[in-house]
Amino acid sequence: MRKKVIAGNWKMNNDLNESINLVSQIKLGLADYNKNEVIVCPSFTSLESVNAVIKNSVIKLGAQNLYYEDSGAYTGEISAKMLKSVGCEYVIIGHSERRTIFQEKDELINLKIKQALSEKLKVIFCIGETLEERENDKTFKVINSQLSLGLKDLSAIELNDIIIAYEPVWAIGTGKTATPQQAQEVHKYIRDYIRENFTDESAENLIIQYGGSVKPDNAAELLNQPDIDGALVGGACLKSDSFLSIIKSV
Ligand code: PEP
Repeated sequence: MRKKVIAGNWKMNNDLNESINLVSQIKLGLADYNKNEVIVCPSFTSLESVNAVIKNSVIKLGAQNLYYEDSGAYTGEISAKMLKSVGCEYVIIGHSERRTIFQEKDELINLKIKQALSEKLKVIFCIGETLEERENDKTFKVINSQLSLGLKDLSAIELNDIIIAYEPVWAIGTGKTATPQQAQEVHKYIRDYIRENFTDESAENLIIQYGGSVKPDNAAELLNQPDIDGALVGGACLKSDSFLSIIKSV
C-alpha cells in the first residue's frame, strides 16, 4: 500500500523567526506521530534553520524552486547542490505560480527536474489545468501535455524519486476545492498515463498528491480516494493547527 505524503508549501511567507516558530509547533504536534510522511517547504532563507529544528523528527525539508545549472553567472538563482547542502530532501518544481507569474515553460521544468534528480533531490512535480481549460474540456489534454513534456527522457527508475502533485489552478488559493470525484478522475488519468508510458510498478508506486484549497474539513474526503496519496497544502499550512489537523485527518 502506498503511504500518504502531506507537504506544506509556505510560498513567500514567514521570515526567519516566524519560520522557526511555525516548524517548532508542527514538530511538537507530531511528537508521537509516525504514520505518514510530512514535508515542509519554507523560503530559501529559512531552510537551514528549519532543518536544524526538524532533526530527530518525522518532518522532511523541501525547497520551492531551483535552477537547472550547476553554478555560474545566474544572479538570484539557487542550485540543487546548494539546496542539498542545507538539508533539503525535496524540491517543488512546476508550481502554477512559477508557470504563470514567472512564465516557466514545460521545457524549463523538465530541465529542472533532471537537475534535481541528478543531485539526488526528490521532486514534487506540479501540474494542473486552468479554469478556462477545464470549462473547454481540455483538462486531460493539458495534463497529458504537462506530463509528457515535464517527464521527457526520464526513466522508470528516476520516477521513483518523483511525486506528482495535481493542482487545478482554479482551486489554488481560491477557496474552491475540486470535488473528491473531480480530483480522483484526474489522479486516475495520471496513474494510467504513467502505467502506459513507464511501467506497471512505477504507476503502482507513484505518489500523486492533490493540491488546491485543502483544509482540515475537506482533507479526509479527498485523501480517501483510491488514487489520492497525499496533499500539497498552501494557505492551510501556515498555521500549525490547521496543518496538523490535515495531517492527522489522514
Ligand atoms: C499550493 O500553493 O500548492 C496550494 C495548493 O495552495 P492552497 O492550498 O492555498 O490552495
